[in-house]
Amino acid sequence: MTEPARPRFSFTIAATDGKARTGAIQMQRGEIRTPAFMPVGTAATVKAMKTGTVRQTGADIILGNTYHLMLRPGAERVAKLGGLHKFMNWDRPILTDSGGYQVMSLSDLRKLTEKGVEFRSHLDGSKHMLTPERSMEIQRLLGSDIVMAFDECPRADQPRDVIAKSMEMSMRWAQRSRDGFDSGEEHAARSALFGIQQGALDEELRKLSADALTDIGFDGYAIGGLAVGEGQEAMFATLEFAPQQLPENRPRYLMGVGKPDDLVGAVERGVDMFDCVLPSRSGRNGQAFTWNGPINLRNARFAEDTDPIDDRCACDACSNYSRAYLHHLVKSKEILGAMLMTEHNIAFYQQLMQTMRDAISEERFAAFATDFRRNYQA
Ligand SMILES: [Zn+2]
Repeated sequence: MTEPARPRFSFTIAATDGKARTGAIQMQRGEIRTPAFMPVGTAATVKAMKTGTVRQTGADIILGNTYHLMLRPGAERVAKLGGLHKFMNWDRPILTDSGGYQVMSLSDLRKLTEKGVEFRSHLDGSKHMLTPERSMEIQRLLGSDIVMAFDECPRADQPRDVIAKSMEMSMRWAQRSRDGFDSGEEHAARSALFGIQQGALDEELRKLSADALTDIGFDGYAIGGLAVGEGQEAMFATLEFAPQQLPENRPRYLMGVGKPDDLVGAVERGVDMFDCVLPSRSGRNGQAFTWNGPINLRNARFAEDTDPIDDRCACDACSNYSRAYLHHLVKSKEILGAMLMTEHNIAFYQQLMQTMRDAISEERFAAFATDFRRNYQA
C-alpha cells in the first residue's frame, strides 16, 4: 500500500474549547499539529541543535529567516545546493518570514518607498533591495513550504495616521506578494502563502486589514505588529478582537511570540501558530523554562542542586544531567551547556503545546490555564 499523496495545504480543526482550537495542517512535507510552536532557525540552523534533536523535541515545523539567508549564504546559492531543506538536513515543513521585519530592525541606511526597501547589509555594508516580488523569489529559491507576504511592521507607538498609511501599503504589498507567489508555478503548486494583518493596537485598522487580506485570499493569516514592545496587557487586549476578524477556517499565526504565559493567553484567544527566538536565545544565556517559571542556571543557588531542570520534563538534559552540572557548564561557557539548555527549552515549549492541544481536545482548557498561571511565576 502506498500512502495517499498529501495535499498542498489543508487545515482541519478537530476540537474547540472556548476560543481555543486544536487540529492539524497537512502539507506535502508533513503534518503540523496546532496550536504549534515553531523553533527559529535563523541562519539555516536552530542554534546549538542538530535537526534530529529538534524533531525529537516534538517540533513539526521550523522557521527560517529570509533577511539572514539572502545575505549569507545567499538565496541563489541555497537553491543551487538543492534548497534549504537539503542544505540544513530538515525534511519537514519550513516557514520563512518575508524579511520585512528584520530589514527594518537590523539593517543600516534603509530607504522605504512604495516599491520596497533599499538597505545596506549589517554584515558588510553591501547594498540590497527587498520588494514583495524579490521576497517571494527568495522564499521560492529557499524552497519554503509556508511563505510569508512581504509587509512593513511599524512601531505600535506611532500616531494612528502613520499606522494606517503603513497598513494600507502593506495590503498593496500583500496583493503583490500574492501575484509574485502565484507566478512560481512548481513551487506555488506545493507550498502555501500567508497574509499578515497589521494595524497595531487599533480594532478598526485591524478589521480593515483583515478584510483586505481576506479579499485577496491566503492559505493562512498572521497577526503581525504585536510583540514589538507594547507589553502583554496591550497584546492580549488586541488579541481579544484580532484573531476573530480573520477567517475561522484558516490557521492564525501570531508572529514573534513569545513567553510561555504569552502562548497560553494567545491560544486562549484563538491563535494556532507561534514562533520565537526566546527558548533558544535565553537557553544560550543560562535561562531555563520550567512549569514553575523561568530559572537562571548561572545563579549560585544551583551550584550543588542535584535535581533536573524540570522533574516533569523527559528531554535528554533533564533525564541525564543535574542543575549543578548545567550551572557548571553555563558558568564555564562550555558549548555543551548551550546545547543542553537549548534542547531543554525547545522540548519544554513543545511539551507546553502538546499539553494545550490535549486540554483543548478534552475540553478542559480553562482549568489548564488557571492551573498553569497558579504554578508559573513569570
Ligand atoms: Zn528538559
